Amino acid sequence: MCRRRRLDGLLLPGLHASQPFPLQRGQLNQSTLNPPTSYFSRSRPFARALLVLVGLMLYGHSCPAANLSGPDTAEAPAPPEPTIPLPLLAQLGAPPDWSQLDTYQRTITIDEFRHLLDHCYARKSVDYQDFIQIWPDRARIRRQSNHSEAGFYDLYFLSDRRKPVTIDRYWKTPWQLPALPANEHRPLLGVHIALDPGHIGGKWANEEQRYYKIGEDTIPVQEGDLTLQTAKLLEKNLVALGARVTLTRRALEPVTHLRPDDLAADARAWLVQRNNLPSEALIKKTAERLFYVSSELRTRAEILNTEIKPDLVLCLHFNASPWRNPYRPAFRSINNLHLLVNGCYSRSEIAEDDTRLEMLQRLLQRTYYYELALADEISKTMADETRLPSMGYDGNSGKSVNDNPYVWARNLLANRKFLCPVVFFEPYCMNHKEVHARIQAGPYRGLREFNGTYRKNIYQEYADGATAGIVNYFRRVR
Ligand SMILES: [Zn+2]
Repeated sequence: MCRRRRLDGLLLPGLHASQPFPLQRGQLNQSTLNPPTSYFSRSRPFARALLVLVGLMLYGHSCPAANLSGPDTAEAPAPPEPTIPLPLLAQLGAPPDWSQLDTYQRTITIDEFRHLLDHCYARKSVDYQDFIQIWPDRARIRRQSNHSEAGFYDLYFLSDRRKPVTIDRYWKTPWQLPALPANEHRPLLGVHIALDPGHIGGKWANEEQRYYKIGEDTIPVQEGDLTLQTAKLLEKNLVALGARVTLTRRALEPVTHLRPDDLAADARAWLVQRNNLPSEALIKKTAERLFYVSSELRTRAEILNTEIKPDLVLCLHFNASPWRNPYRPAFRSINNLHLLVNGCYSRSEIAEDDTRLEMLQRLLQRTYYYELALADEISKTMADETRLPSMGYDGNSGKSVNDNPYVWARNLLANRKFLCPVVFFEPYCMNHKEVHARIQAGPYRGLREFNGTYRKNIYQEYADGATAGIVNYFRRVR
């Protein structure tokens, strides 16, 4: 896989339900104005846009047409240059190319567009109204949320819902899959599934705050290790059922080639823009987060969207309750399960120009219907296998889109940037006593007793629960 690309992005690491926070890159600084040659070869679109902007301003200043008013005005003080604000972008995001929506012109009715926005994508209707206006024949989308002079992108609606439309997307719906041959017992034949083992693990686990150790002589709990172990078992299951499976990582190493030191300037720029005093300690911490969340996930997404191009992605995670000191944590009593589809964008997320475009791309590709149907099926079999209760949100960071208490809509960097249906798994709280004991037991064969119940090893249980739901879904729709 190509490791030369520079990608970046962001997720807040709360314990895991990472949420994009609006960090912007590419502040006007010395390194932006005088980049080394390799700077551009690694594609920093935001910085390039900034340079174009500066160039245009300089050009406007020296352009002969600007001096047509004659010599009388030559000595008058030049009026201040109009200030064009830097676009508001997600952390390490790039200014959006709105022409990417051209392919979706007249492919959605006003009713469906409004329904998807209100029901799933916007946390509340009022959250998008300053940035997306719904007119009878079109949606008027602000090109730059903090600069009204940038105008609107007009997305025209489909006027006749009976008119067949072709929707541009690289993934296949179940109905586009080739028919199964007679006597074919592998229900996933022809389906390409990508597995994204969440986080990095290994020696990076502590830095990415997905590590804790409790008690002497115990195995440390590292989420990135647990997810990779699960992904490999799930891959085995799905391949046996006919699927083609690709993992976004196969090692306990980052996919991005960037490291915190490479991202210090971006971290400093973000902190300055957010009116934070950039102490060295704060810059270091922010740069670390840019590395293990933003850059890592955006790199995986770029590879997935341009090379892997699967029909669906399963993002595998383990949940956790907050722990403070990874070396002196306490067990928590909560242990539950939930699954996420993409949605519930807040006002501040919709205000980010790149996030707004990405949300609309997902809406226009109709990923919602497939994600929800899949998540519904998988939640049943995961609940059966894991015996875990559901977990709820308060409607702010996640919202309910149907009557399934296990399934919630939430906007995360991974389920937004992977441009195909994504089901995001959040079973097991890693710092629950029983989960800890099961992790200590490792990938044993057969069953073992925990609290009076015989259980498969935790990775196999996770993989089998997911597999059964996927099979049920494809058996139903193919
Ligand atoms: Zn996680």
